[in-house]
Order: sequence, then structure tokens, then C-alpha cells
Amino acid sequence: MRFDAFDGTQTLRARVLGGMCIALGVLAALMAVANILWSQSYLFALIEGIFAVLSYFLYVKSKRQTYTLREKNCYLLFLFVLVSYAIYAKPLVMGVYMWAFLLPIVFYLLLGKKQGFIVSLASLTVLMAILFFKKPVDPPFQIIPVIINFSFCYISILGVSHVYESNRDRIEQALHVLALTDALTGAKNRLAFKKDIQAKRRQKKILSILVLDIDHFKQINDTYGHEAGDDVLKKVTRCLAGIAGEDAVYRQGGEEFCVVVAQDLSGAEQLAESIRAGIETTEFVTQGCSIGVTVSLGIAQFALGLSEDDVLRIADERLYTAKLQGRNQVVSSAGPLPSC
Ligand code: GH3
Ligand code: MG
Ligand code: MG
Repeated sequence: MRFDAFDGTQTLRARVLGGMCIALGVLAALMAVANILWSQSYLFALIEGIFAVLSYFLYVKSKRQTYTLREKNCYLLFLFVLVSYAIYAKPLVMGVYMWAFLLPIVFYLLLGKKQGFIVSLASLTVLMAILFFKKPVDPPFQIIPVIINFSFCYISILGVSHVYESNRDRIEQALHVLALTDALTGAKNRLAFKKDIQAKRRQKKILSILVLDIDHFKQINDTYGHEAGDDVLKKVTRCLAGIAGEDAVYRQGGEEFCVVVAQDLSGAEQLAESIRAGIETTEFVTQGCSIGVTVSLGIAQFALGLSEDDVLRIADERLYTAKLQGRNQVVSSAGPLPSC
């Protein structure tokens, strides 16, 4: 699974921006031509022309997802100014003010819930003021009913956009947690491990990993049943979280865990020893029976030129050595690895 699959919001926003740029850009170009040929509104044509060019550039950037926040915000501001100016300058009978109903949808989709709400509301206030001070109002129109209907319609669209964006955001966060969490123990899973390790390595921190395996876990399952085994896995997770911190613990699969620490090998060794001793002295009671649980640990430090897989393999080899040497122990490297 690719990690950018988690960046749903970013991808959605880039797609919305791309679609909007192409649609509005083409429309603006056509309207610029129409304004030159039929209405001789050269100022409008100029603004629309600039908008069409901007739309094209942002469309290209959104396809590559290389646009900056400032570029996106400037584009939205330009769109707002264009709509506002058109509402102010064009006669109401032309219905140009209907374009304003697009704004809250675009703001919410591109800016998110909080900023979308603030910008949509601020835009409504400005647009109502523009309508109110617009002169002269064409004879069949009475401006107050127009403003009332306009604002109610705008607020309704704003409300729907708000509910949509809130739900989308909530669902995305829930999916995010589900994808990165182990269902049985509640610890972070293997995918979260890969994601976090890559992020931490980019920060160029000193980093070590502890690979931990429960000793003779199959015997626990065979003697006390699978459910008892599950209880042990949950309690081991709680012990690890208590000692190393919840954020540092990952379940790699089965009865194997991983702990990531921002420490060198000797710091990681001390932590590993306290984990080993902590689990050995913890009482595991399940179905009225007290179970003796021990763990073996292998440690490795991240170093320049070593991939995540290399470091995991080294830690795994050391874990294997710990098993071969009799279990319930910590094995770390004898010779230091080249540091970052
Ligand atoms: P060693 O000390 O060499 O690690 O021996 P072990 O018995 O712990 O290791 P082995 O690989 O032989 O057995 C691991 C067992 O863990 C086998 C498998 O059924 C069990 N297991 C894997 N996942 C789960 C789980 O989610 N719940 C339970 N209850 N058991 C699991
Ligand atoms: Mg085991
Ligand atoms: Mg194992």
C-alpha cells in the first residue's frame, strides 16, 4: 500500500482545484471573447482573460500537485474578486449574482471546514454589502427581497457544504486510524511502522528499534486456549506502552512487536532491559490462571546506508540469537554500527 493513499484530502483538493481551473478557465476565456465582441466591456474581458491564464497555470500545477498554498489562496481571492465585481457592475437582470452560490462549495472543498466556514461567511457579508450599495437597481428588482433570497440560498448551500466537509473529514480520520491500528491490541500496525520510520528518518534523528517476541507463545495458546493468548497479547501491549510510550509500540504480526526509540544502541539496550524485566515481573492472569510470560529482544540502530529492511533484518537476527541463547534476554550489537 502506498502511503500517499492516506493523503486523501490533499488528493481530493488537487482534483477539485484541477477540475475547477479547467472549467472556469475555459468559461472565463469564452466570456472574455464575448465581452470583447458583443458588449465591448474591455475591463471585464481583461480580468476574465487574466483569470483564464491563471486557471491554466494552476491547472497544470494541480495535475502535478506542485501548487503552493499561496497560489491556491490567490486564485480563490481572484475568483471572489471577479464574481464580486461582476455582481457590482452587471445589471441584476443578467443573474450574475448566481455565480456567488459556487463560492461556499469551492471554499469548503479547497480550504477545509474551519477556513471554509470563515471565508464563506466573510464573502457573504461582502456580497450582501455589494448588493445593498449597488446602484442603480433595475426597475423590476427590489433590492431587499433580492438580498434576503440571495443570502438564504447562500447560507443553505454553506450549511450543506459544512455538513458534507465535516462528515468527509470525520470519515477520513476514522479510516486513517483503522488502516494504521492493529484490531486486537490497539497498538499501531506494520503499515504505521513503515510510515513512521520513513518520517522519522527524514528528520535525521538518532533512531533504534527493538524487535520483541513472546517466548513459547504457542504453548500458552495450546495450554490455556487462543483467547488466553489474545489476552496475553493485549497485556504485553499495555506493558510496552507503559514503559516505552504508546506512540513507540507496533505489533508486527503474531506475537512479535517492535519498539522505536530516538536513542542510540546503549540507550535502546537499557530500555529493552527494562521491558524484558517489566514483562517478566508482570502477573498475567487469565481465566483464573497465572501465566508466566517472558520475552526476547533484538536491537539495532539506524545508520547511514542502511534501509529500514536492513535494520529490521539485523534486529531480527539478534532476536534469533536471543532465542538460541535461551530466551528471556536482550541481544544488541557487539561492534557499533556507523552512525548517521
Ligand atoms: P518462540 O519462543 O521460539 O518464539 O516460540 P513461540 O511458540 O512463541 O513461536 P511460534 O512461532 O512457534 O508460535 C507463535 C504462535 O503465535 C503461533 C500462532 O498460532 C500464535 N499466534 C499468532 N497470532 C496470534 C494471535 O493473534 N492470537 C493468538 N492467541 N495467537 C496467535
Ligand atoms: Mg514467540
Ligand atoms: Mg514469533
